[in-house]
Amino acid sequence: MIKQLFKYLINTLLDRKCKVCGATLEHDEFGICHECEKGDLFFHPKLHIRGNILEERLYGLTKFETAEALMPYSDVAQTLVHDLKYYNSRNIAQLFGRKISEHIITNNLYSHIDYIVPVPLHTNRIKQRGYNQSELIANKIAECLGTIVNSTNLYRAYDNPSQTHKSFTERQQNVKGIFALHDSNMFSNKTVLLVDDVFTTGSTIIDCCRALNQSPNIRIHIFTATVAHIY
Ligand SMILES: [Zn+2]
Repeated sequence: MIKQLFKYLINTLLDRKCKVCGATLEHDEFGICHECEKGDLFFHPKLHIRGNILEERLYGLTKFETAEALMPYSDVAQTLVHDLKYYNSRNIAQLFGRKISEHIITNNLYSHIDYIVPVPLHTNRIKQRGYNQSELIANKIAECLGTIVNSTNLYRAYDNPSQTHKSFTERQQNVKGIFALHDSNMFSNKTVLLVDDVFTTGSTIIDCCRALNQSPNIRIHIFTATVAHIY
């Protein structure tokens, strides 16, 4: 009885409901119940074929091997990303990381990945928030794939104003030259997986790739948890 009451209180206070079906989550379920996780939420056919919407937005603007996203920026995705960003929800990061790894393991376009590289936040932002949500996702992917995260070589040289109300051209201008590498030799002849939580116009990814491509013979794969405006 007390156990039930405790569970009820925790679930009510922490909004422990599946974001898809609304079922009350078990102690080992986070964001989404196991049943919904098994569905097609993370297998959107449009996001995994060659020439998908992410690749289309990047073609001709930067050099990369592949680009994919787990899910469109739906209401469910928005809630998950919001929890990840503002409530330090490591469990959501682990869910994203686990699902991204499943795609990578089953896709023969990926060879051995040397480094998982999260899109960096400026140190001011990390001080504010306490963590980089993309790094949390990267940590889980590295654990699943048995490889390592490098979150120091690629860095954000200065903080940029919010992107929210900017057009594609304005966003590109806004981020151009923001990212840089400390050591361009470190990633030379290496395969890296660049990871972010949300892909919008691609301007952030393009600028990260511009910096990463300073490394001779680098191969860059891109995987984001969500992608906006796919229709
Ligand atoms: Zn569910």
